[in-house]
Amino acid sequence: MSNEQPKIPQATAKRLPLYYRFLKNLHASGKQRVSSAELSEAVKVDPATIRRDFSYFGALGKKGYGYNVNYLLSFFRQTLEEDEVTEVALFGVGNLGTAFLNYNFSKNNNTKIVMAFDVDERKVGTTVGGVPVYHLDELEERLRGDIPVAILTVPAAAAQALTDRLVAQGIKGILNFTPARLNVPNHIRVHHIDLAIELQSLVYFLKNYPSPS
Ligand code: ATP
Repeated sequence: MSNEQPKIPQATAKRLPLYYRFLKNLHASGKQRVSSAELSEAVKVDPATIRRDFSYFGALGKKGYGYNVNYLLSFFRQTLEEDEVTEVALFGVGNLGTAFLNYNFSKNNNTKIVMAFDVDERKVGTTVGGVPVYHLDELEERLRGDIPVAILTVPAAAAQALTDRLVAQGIKGILNFTPARLNVPNHIRVHHIDLAIELQSLVYFLKNYPSPS
């Protein structure tokens, strides 16, 4: 993911650890947002410089709202700790979800499904493929803005409401296996994989364009 980030000027990059440390403390104290004035006071950098710096991170503060602490934190983590394994949360431990939990993604790349969520009491509290399954009610408490990627294998009808909660938690990327088209803010990347459509399209091509060569 890091190679998709825009180039950050060196002067800005030098201030990153300063911002990062302060935001980690804010997050630990439960704050969800911070204004450039508050940041300026704490790190002793003028607000205009902070706003310019943060625009490089894709974080646009809103008037009267400030910056989303979770979003900024996940950005800093990614930038400053590039060698870290990317943690992934999976939603919906049905047939497809179970298969992903049993499939070890971390063999091929530095991603790891570290937790899963479901609403079915028979699944909550179990472990699938070594991954704990929590109740969806615990989403905010468990994610705490720490997990950048989500895999959705829930029923389509549940996908948008779930996505809105993930966005509020500062999620950065969503791998969507549901047929639902998701509405997300521009800074969030959604990759949509609809297996039924892919299969149908393959069959269509085989019938109508029999020879690929
Ligand atoms: P699959 O579609 O993966 O083959 P399935 O046919 O077994 O799964 P679905 O009805 O698609 O079952 O549901 C997938 C899983 O998502 C189930 O385990 C279900 O309990 C769970 N689920 C349903 N609603 C939600 C929700 N809002 N959040 C999280 N999980 C949910």
